[in-house]
Amino acid sequence: MKKLYGVIGSPIQHSMSPLIHNDAFLQLGIDAHYHAFHVLPKDLEAAVVGLKALGVAGFNVTIPHKKAIIPLLDEVDNTALKIGAVNTVVNENGKWTGYNTDGPGYVAALKQITATENKHILIIGAGGAARAILYSLVKEPGAKVDIFNRTPEKAQHLIEEFSLQGTSRAVTMAEVVGNMPNYDVIVQTTSVGMHPHIEDSPVQIATLKKNAIVSDIIYNPLETDLLKQAKLKGAITQNGVQMFVYQAALAFQYWTNRVPDVHRMEKIVTERLGGTTC
Ligand code: NAP
Repeated sequence: MKKLYGVIGSPIQHSMSPLIHNDAFLQLGIDAHYHAFHVLPKDLEAAVVGLKALGVAGFNVTIPHKKAIIPLLDEVDNTALKIGAVNTVVNENGKWTGYNTDGPGYVAALKQITATENKHILIIGAGGAARAILYSLVKEPGAKVDIFNRTPEKAQHLIEEFSLQGTSRAVTMAEVVGNMPNYDVIVQTTSVGMHPHIEDSPVQIATLKKNAIVSDIIYNPLETDLLKQAKLKGAITQNGVQMFVYQAALAFQYWTNRVPDVHRMEKIVTERLGGTTC
């Protein structure tokens, strides 16, 4: 019988997950379908019960349910618990088990363009995506992370919650500007610069280290103002498409034990957003 997968969120109509997962099922000859379900916060609990009753094999979770779903699941893996967010749920013999593939997905994407050992990294933002990325990045050997956030207490809170005081710290805007030539990697995780406010940028790019990587997890637009500035200063840049497809590929593997073609996923998403890949 055809297996059913999906994504729950609100809003959800622009989700590109059905596109890439359905294509991967087709490519791998898996008899399954992936559907986007619009679920309002008030209906989350009923949706989780209903999806199980319908025998759904697994689903993704997106804004605004990544945190709220945790108490509704039967089990949650340790990484997702520490991050405090679930984006992938697997039906394991009738039990819902939650995972987080955002952090590992980001690191897998970063590894496509650089080695990740001994990097001095700046994370801009301290929201849900930043938490997942920070949790995974600090596992890389020799990682030293500065966090800058509009609300500084949230950045400091993240450092303390993850017990990173020895290697990482919350920094001010003045420190970001002063340290910019020292960062190997700058990761932009806020929603600033996202469509339709594409002229906005959370920081201005000053002089960068030679071969610095500037990555923005936003993928609409494909090139944010921050990435444009970084390119002009000579940086190697990466948009959010790769994080998106690597987190999706990891979810796909949890559900099917099969490895989808990530480059094909990247091409599909990029083309849907009006860009091209080589
Ligand atoms: P979130 O938990 O709501 O966090 C939002 C972050 O943005 C916070 O650090 C917030 O700072 C900051 N921010 C918001 N408006 C700001 C402004 N006007 N000026 C300065 N900072 C501002 O959201 P999230 O879940 O982390 O998502 C953030 C972004 O990541 C979204 O654009 C989302 O689409 C993207 N994302 C991409 C992927 C991917 O696969 N590529 C995956 C997940 C998320 P305060 O703490 O001061 O409010």
